[in-house]
Amino acid sequence: MLSIEEALARVMERVPANATERVPIEHAQGRVLAETIAATVDLPPWAGSAMDGFAVRAADVPGDLDVLETIAAGRVPSREVGPGQASRIMTGAPIPEGADAVVMVEDTASTDSQVTVRVSATPGQHIRAAGSEIRAGQTVLAPGTVLGFGTLGVLAALGRPSVLVTCRPRVGLLSTGDEVVEPGFPLAPGQIWSSNLHALAGLCRDAGVEPVYLGIVEDDPVALAVAFRRAMQCDVVVSTGGVSVGDFDHVKDVLIGMGVSIDFWRVAMKPGKPLAYGFIGDRPVFGLPGNPVSCMVNFLQFVRPVLRTMLGDPNPFLPVVRAALERPWKRRAGRPELVRVRLSPGAEGLPTASVAGVQGSAHVLGMAEAHGLMMVGAETTLVAGEVSVQVFDWTWTSGAGAGYRWA
Ligand code: AMP
Ligand code: MG
Repeated sequence: MLSIEEALARVMERVPANATERVPIEHAQGRVLAETIAATVDLPPWAGSAMDGFAVRAADVPGDLDVLETIAAGRVPSREVGPGQASRIMTGAPIPEGADAVVMVEDTASTDSQVTVRVSATPGQHIRAAGSEIRAGQTVLAPGTVLGFGTLGVLAALGRPSVLVTCRPRVGLLSTGDEVVEPGFPLAPGQIWSSNLHALAGLCRDAGVEPVYLGIVEDDPVALAVAFRRAMQCDVVVSTGGVSVGDFDHVKDVLIGMGVSIDFWRVAMKPGKPLAYGFIGDRPVFGLPGNPVSCMVNFLQFVRPVLRTMLGDPNPFLPVVRAALERPWKRRAGRPELVRVRLSPGAEGLPTASVAGVQGSAHVLGMAEAHGLMMVGAETTLVAGEVSVQVFDWTWTSGAGAGYRWA
């Protein structure tokens, strides 16, 4: 049996290269940057006012000054500010020649042609100097940056209408099993509705890749071969079911028969041992177990990091938090286990983890309730105290008790 680490190292050893594409910034959210963004201009591009008020020479104030003009945002000054002079200026308007400070309108009293400034000023005050935030030529964003509203704002501020990002791999999803039926259709005796395809599609979207629904295939070698051939049009293939040692688990033989280089691993982990992994040409194929929880947990451990790496994310693994386990949890030693846990913010410091109700590998509800996977080592029989949790759902951080507190 392989350890989780060995299995992960093997899949990460050979992650296929991924293409890049240019997209408009309004379509770039969540995408991974594939170019270095260097500023081509200073930001701000010119010295501007940070306040509505008066552009003055700092040495002249407090005092009474002549008002030369009004400079609105979007206009350019026409007069140089000399000794004893000022220009009325709005936030975002360029600073006129001669002025070296802005005083707030609240600190003045004025008529159209005169202003009394009641306060002193320091040179540079309320002026956004050219290049004070970003200098032309400066590198601001590196490849691998996951684009969010902050970085989209930076791109737009630098005048970029589009950006080079990695392409989203298309992930073909295939379910196997004579008993498995698409929701919306009636069940015959012995049948169940397929939960895995839809859970996998959700996992794909969550990983930032595009799920391609390839449907349910019966436990028949010919049908499976046809389905896997069709799946080759995708960048990555993920199937569920049919990879263990049952009489109707044909996935292995079908893939080998198609000339696919594939390994069948028994990974020492709970839930879910069997995992098929290989390549159709240069496209990774993952044969995940059919048990719903095993299927999802295997995806999170092995498929997601490959997909995130294809996307160019330098941090392809689920984030981990330390948490205090609410009450000790007993289990049998044997395999490392990924236990579904709920998280809550906790009173002070550490979040609190509690084991989600139903833990069976066929129980979809346990996964729905959980926020993360608690990592339990092979030999541990009593889990207590501080634990590590791989987090896939962050909604608990904004729940009641998360506690907005001012520093
Ligand atoms: P298998 O890996 O094919 O031996 O399937 C293991 C278990 O998972 C069986 O109980 C299957 O009925 C169940 N299973 C397989 N595929 C799915 C699916 N798409 N949705 C829900 N359960 C499934
Ligand atoms: Mg099956």
